[in-house]
Amino acid sequence: MNLVAASARPFHVMAKPTGARCNCACDYCFFLKKERLYPGSEFRMPDEIMESFVRQMIEAHAGLPEVEIAWQGGEPTLMGIDFFRRAVEAETRYARAGQRVANSLQTNGLLIDGEWCHFLRENGFLIGLSLDGPRELHDAYRRDRAGASVFDRVVRAARLMREHGVEFNILATVNAANSPHPLEVYRFFRDELGARYLQLIPIVERENETGDQEGTRLTERSVEPAAYGRFLIAIFDEWVRRDVGSMFVTFFDNVLAASVYGESTVCALRRECGEALALEHNGDLYACDHFVEPRYLLGNIMSEPGGLAGLVASENQRAFGRAKQATLPRVCRECRFLFICNGECPKNRVLGAPDGEPGLNYLCAGFKRFFGRIQPFAAGLAAGRPPKLTLDQVLRVQEAADTVNRGLAGSAARSRPAAGRNDPCPCGSGRKYKHCCGR
Ligand code: SF4
Ligand code: SF4
Ligand code: SF4
Repeated sequence: MNLVAASARPFHVMAKPTGARCNCACDYCFFLKKERLYPGSEFRMPDEIMESFVRQMIEAHAGLPEVEIAWQGGEPTLMGIDFFRRAVEAETRYARAGQRVANSLQTNGLLIDGEWCHFLRENGFLIGLSLDGPRELHDAYRRDRAGASVFDRVVRAARLMREHGVEFNILATVNAANSPHPLEVYRFFRDELGARYLQLIPIVERENETGDQEGTRLTERSVEPAAYGRFLIAIFDEWVRRDVGSMFVTFFDNVLAASVYGESTVCALRRECGEALALEHNGDLYACDHFVEPRYLLGNIMSEPGGLAGLVASENQRAFGRAKQATLPRVCRECRFLFICNGECPKNRVLGAPDGEPGLNYLCAGFKRFFGRIQPFAAGLAAGRPPKLTLDQVLRVQEAADTVNRGLAGSAARSRPAAGRNDPCPCGSGRKYKHCCGR
């Protein structure tokens, strides 16, 4: 199979060189339970697989100016710096002229020291650092294997990375413990850590032994839908007042992008799945990082004739992608926020709709509150007239719109309006789009 032809579109693979191995034992971790898939494994990606993965990713993105290589856990730093030195060396060897290879790495920060920072900075790695807020909120669910706090070590990693000029995002889960404290969490990241990039990941965790997406009972650690909505709104209100253009909250950028341009860059809000896969330490490729389960195993990139690109383009993976829309319940299909939400991530669809149809997203109530709150703002952006803001705020809002715009540059979907001319206006005014924000 021609690898280049197989991949007309970019795709994203989270490579897990240490599989289910981690030096933490967070209560809500879904990676650790994957150990049962590979009994007796050392969970260390051999160089042969790492190098083949790098080569295949670069080949599959040969016509594109950039390819992203994402390293994920378990805890990838357990592989040691030399593994990543060899990966960067392989990237340099295989990259096409003019093609940039961008590395990202998700870490709990425990092993990050000066030597790591130097390497990460030198090689332009973008780091995702897992931290759930100030000490007592972080310690609620995130501890080491002996049950001890890791807060000081994570904060130290953040400070070291700042000192060394390593680019990093904070990846914070929103869970039952920190959701009642949105501003405490947000201000801690902004004011005490000096973070500028923030990802908020809601914990919706099924209660079962397998770690698979089965059953509808959720753990008590999962965030309450209404609390999730309140959490987002509280942070959004603070962000709009003072931080547009200086703090970047991925979910806000993407909800605004979906509201204004009808498309977002995070898979959870996109119409279809299928472009965010997971690679296990032994070369097994799965449909998605949240579905590392036998029934979503596509094959092994070392043994399948079409390799990585062939598996991404396979009918199984395409069917996985289409299922996101195909399984939407009627309440979503008729929802006024469908153009933003698309029913969000299928792994969170554990509720029955009011009419009994299965497949409603557990976080729906929170989404509706939040989407409703931001609509006047988004509609103002779409119409080029931000609502009731000072001149300074207008300038910042325009800067945010430019940021969203840049994030979507090249997207064919960008020209799609947020709503059809005769549809109800997404700002909730009750008028037709063409008579309201679409004028
Ligand atoms: S740091 Fe990440 S991989 Fe490790 S236990 Fe916590 S959630 Fe799981
Ligand atoms: S299942 Fe969820 S995480 Fe996976 S690709 Fe779809 S939206 Fe993304
Ligand atoms: S807000 Fe709720 S009803 Fe509307 S699309 Fe999202 S999950 Fe479905």
